Amino acid sequence: MKDRTSQDMTDRIARLEKRLEREKKARLQAENILEQKSLELYAHNKSLNQNAKLMEAAIVNAKDGVIITTADLDRPIILYVNEAVTRISGYDAGELIGQTPRILQGADTDKRILAELKSCLKQGKSFKGELKNYTKDGIPYWLDISITPVRDENGAVTHFTAIERDITQRKAFEKELQVSREAAEVAKRSMRNFLANMSHELRTPMNGIIGLSELLEDMNLNKEQEELASAIHLSSRNLLILLNDILDLSKIEANELILENMPFDLRVSVQQTVDLLRPIASRKGIILESFISPHVPERIVGDPGRFQQILNNLISNAIKFTESGAVRLDISNSVNADSAAHEIQIRVEDTGIGIPEEKQQAIFDKFMQADVSTARKYGGTGLGLSITQELVDMMNGSIDLESTEGKGTTFYVHLPVVPTTVNADSSLQRVITSTHNNINRAARILVVDDHPVNLLFMRKVLKKIGLDCVDEAHSGREAIAAAEKNTYDLIFMDCQMPEIDGFEASTIIRERESAIGDIIIVAVTADAMRGARENCLDAGMNDYISKPVDVVKLTSVLEKWLPAEEGASCKSEEEFIEPNQKNFFKSVSDANVLDWERLKMFAETEEEEKELIGIFINYAEDSLQTMKVHLDDGDEDSWKKAAHKLKGSAANLGAQRLSELCYEAEKAAYQTSGSEKGLLFERIEGSYSELLAVLKGRATETLVSIH
Ligand code: ADP
Repeated sequence: MKDRTSQDMTDRIARLEKRLEREKKARLQAENILEQKSLELYAHNKSLNQNAKLMEAAIVNAKDGVIITTADLDRPIILYVNEAVTRISGYDAGELIGQTPRILQGADTDKRILAELKSCLKQGKSFKGELKNYTKDGIPYWLDISITPVRDENGAVTHFTAIERDITQRKAFEKELQVSREAAEVAKRSMRNFLANMSHELRTPMNGIIGLSELLEDMNLNKEQEELASAIHLSSRNLLILLNDILDLSKIEANELILENMPFDLRVSVQQTVDLLRPIASRKGIILESFISPHVPERIVGDPGRFQQILNNLISNAIKFTESGAVRLDISNSVNADSAAHEIQIRVEDTGIGIPEEKQQAIFDKFMQADVSTARKYGGTGLGLSITQELVDMMNGSIDLESTEGKGTTFYVHLPVVPTTVNADSSLQRVITSTHNNINRAARILVVDDHPVNLLFMRKVLKKIGLDCVDEAHSGREAIAAAEKNTYDLIFMDCQMPEIDGFEASTIIRERESAIGDIIIVAVTADAMRGARENCLDAGMNDYISKPVDVVKLTSVLEKWLPAEEGASCKSEEEFIEPNQKNFFKSVSDANVLDWERLKMFAETEEEEKELIGIFINYAEDSLQTMKVHLDDGDEDSWKKAAHKLKGSAANLGAQRLSELCYEAEKAAYQTSGSEKGLLFERIEGSYSELLAVLKGRATETLVSIH
């Protein structure tokens, strides 16, 4: 028994020893793992520590200020500021920690920005903005500030960190810039006003002198009186040229000269200029020749007036500085094969006195004349060529010359041009301007001008044109009263008048119009500045002519608005039938471009047809130009009005597709974006070109039968 017991004990001890052994082993293993983990933890801690130190160093030494606050929005407490904050604010860290950031704010700290900041943080969002703070000494400084909420592992906001950059200097520059920009604007505005006033004040009396001396010349004068009258006429014309040159230069320098951009017939422009100068050349016994290559496009887009000014300056100089021989104008064309860009070369060659080589560049300077004694002999101001050069520059062209003293001079001008897709028959245009029977002579006209000389001039000219029924008003107020009392077909409205000016008078007349009828108001203004035309149209006027009034222009305005044949004019609003509402266009020609039957309803004879087409083209190009100008400038009203006008005249002519497109454009005036409008406008232009092709074919047929 005893043996059994001792055996049991021995077994038990052996088992215990084994277990002990196993536990020892396990502990050793655990100790090893622990040691290993401790080592890893130590290494991790060490790198964390290093990162934190690096981060701290970065924050401490950052150029931008860093502030950490508690997340209490009503009273956030500053927990940490870096050195930049103490440097920018002038406070020690100790003075800031424990305070709220309000300590840094002051009288001019924008409360709205603070409210915005608070609202952002309240929603858990970051804030970015500019804020004015104050140093310890009360000096304001500007901060570009961005504040971000810091969240714990549960997403709760525990702190806010603000990073601030001192932008005081930048703000000062910005302010300086703003002040000088405003000063420049004021200066520009007063320059613009000055120019507009000058332009008006000087051109108005000139208008009177020139116009009346012209009329005087036409009277039965004896020889001496005739000489005096023509001397007045010539001097006043010269004075006007000088005046225009000075005004042009001032406009160029004030950046106020804006080039027009409209399709025009290049040959007609050249012809007009040459015709005007030919008498001067022949008086000197000089031959004036002009040649335009047939490859030069017929119609180009640009500023016809300024184009003529360039030609006029060069040709008149050539005539002026040539004693005998010839002046020759050559215009040719080149097309770049790759870009299809057109360029015209204008060459003005004379057999005159020439320009010494050393003076050849200087003559483009203002008031620069090659030689004082010749300048005295030939007259002039030395402004023509500098204006010419500026105009050529503005048209992205170039000007150059070759000259040999005693032999002659050749000026070369290269101008990039855009030929128009719209290729209206120029002879058709000529028919419109050359016919003098186109005006409705029974029309009743009111001329409004505060200047008696202008009234007199206008009345005489209108009488010459064949209009006898002309009333006068001397002020805006008189004009309104007259328009209320009588029914006028057309009012010539001076723009600048004291008290109620032409703009206001027109607006008032338009407002009361429903009771009066459909009056055409044509602005007559000496204000040749940018926007003058737009201002007139904005005030409800239909058209615009500038002073001094050009008889040819006046005639064409009258032809446009007061055509002799009722049938040839565009019908009034009530008679226009919306293209989509009624099946008005029954017999539609090829591709719906033009319904000839419809056209025939208005124009029974070929003459009438031509006239109607001519008037339509005039109207349409005007409307297209207006629509183009107001494509994306936000002036939807003008876009709409122009679309409306074209819609009506196209429908009356029988151009259904064009009319429908214009109807779309009119409806879309306020809804469609600029680019969509652009597409619509392209379609309108395309449709107009199609129509012109049809009209042109017809017009050529009829024109051939006249010549
Ligand atoms: P203006 O003709 O009024 O004096 P411009 O600016 O038109 O002023 O011309 C400046 C000068 O250039 C002229 O005074 C003249 O000396 C010279 N000039 C211009 N065109 C010619 C030319 N075709 N032949 C000779 N000299 C010319």
